[in-house]
Amino acid sequence: MSTLFDLSRRHLLAGLAGTAALPALSPQAIAQTRARLVIVGGGFGGATAAKFLKHFLPDATVTLIEPNETFVACPFSNLVIGGQRSINQQTFTYDALRAIGVDVVHQTASDIDTDAHTVTLAEGGGTVGYDKLIMSPGVDIRWGALEGYDERAAEKMPHAWKAGAQTTLLRQQLEAMDDGGLVVMSAPLAPFRCPPGPYERASLIAHYLKTQKPDSKLLILDAKDTFSKKPLFMDAWAKLYPDHLEWRGAADFGRVVSVDPSTMTVSTDFEDITADVANIIPPQKAGDIADRAGVSDETGWCPINPLDFSSTLQPDIHVIGDATIAAPMPKSAFSANLQAKFCAMQIARQVAGLDVEPTVLANTCYSYIAPDQAISITGVYSNADGKLTSIEGAGGLSPEIADDSVRTAEAAQADAWFQTITQEAFG
Ligand code: FAD
Repeated sequence: MSTLFDLSRRHLLAGLAGTAALPALSPQAIAQTRARLVIVGGGFGGATAAKFLKHFLPDATVTLIEPNETFVACPFSNLVIGGQRSINQQTFTYDALRAIGVDVVHQTASDIDTDAHTVTLAEGGGTVGYDKLIMSPGVDIRWGALEGYDERAAEKMPHAWKAGAQTTLLRQQLEAMDDGGLVVMSAPLAPFRCPPGPYERASLIAHYLKTQKPDSKLLILDAKDTFSKKPLFMDAWAKLYPDHLEWRGAADFGRVVSVDPSTMTVSTDFEDITADVANIIPPQKAGDIADRAGVSDETGWCPINPLDFSSTLQPDIHVIGDATIAAPMPKSAFSANLQAKFCAMQIARQVAGLDVEPTVLANTCYSYIAPDQAISITGVYSNADGKLTSIEGAGGLSPEIADDSVRTAEAAQADAWFQTITQEAFG
């Protein structure tokens, strides 16, 4: 069985596989610091950051603030919607983090005083002081940005873009729909969490309709004309779901301008469509606490220095994961996890009095096109010179022409990736 050190070092290296300049921590650098390190948000970014901070700085006080007692993962939640997985398989506890000495506080951070260096906990929970704060609050929905789409509308037209009750609601609605029904999905403009996610979901819903409700159909109404892995998805849909899935981009009047949950109407500039099931994936922004901390800008997202993921707006705060402006890195669990490890290392170097060093970051997003077939896209990024840039010629896509065995092998890799990343964050 691996020790934490073996595990973290092996996974750190695996996560940074192919990187040219992994900044090393000398034994002296793993200082016996008693710094107060606080993390807001216990998802893929925050949980990973807590674990690696505790590893690099064992004598530091590491506090993770997260309201939920269990975490429900979005990656693979499309398989719950498609009927291949249960929501329990998506659910993780914080027991392993507690076991290594992370102080896990199940509260919402309601405010951050950047002068006093304190995080205020909701419901009179008091304050927690920090020397360094990492924020990984994920995304919040821009309620009302799409006319008619507010929190009440989401109970009838689920977004399922935060995993949990919304995921099971959409699954139940699909199961309850009569054969012959119309499922409508609306996809937003970028930037949003998980760029290929809507199209993976569409594939798995179409598979469900084809196999269980063959007279039904999925219509995707998209606010844009192109999307991640589009040629691969379009090719898969033409082969696998020609009668069950139709995609309309902005040029085909696919952009949704308003919804009315009382009549289940989804309206574009061109027509009003009545859905039997409507999955509205709305515009998003950094988690609300980012605004209160003053780390988000007018875009709703958080600018960072990619050398150490420190906020460019507030001192001693680092922001990682979906909340950041880190393009061309996508908003993915893979990115959040790697940014967390890298940020933890740079903080450890800083508190040990060492300079931060540039490195190379990477991301792979797997997407299922059917329950046993997947495709992927990989990007490799440099953070030198204070900029995140794609490294030309590195990374790539699954081949466009491939037989089923290639897609099946990628599905197995996707499964292994999910086991690894959830073990790293929560195991
Ligand atoms: P999260 O993981 O969402 O964590 C944020 C945490 O912050 C939450 O636990 C929340 O409760 C907490 N929080 C928020 N506000 C506060 C507050 N005020 N106080 C305390 N805590 C707070 N990524 C992949 O890499 N591969 C995939 O295959 C993939 N598939 C996806 C499929 C779908 C359908 C979706 C929606 C997403 C998918 N993703 C995938 C994207 C992935 O889920 C996110 O990119 C990832 O979760 C981002 O991590 P994060 O730490 O930024 O946010």
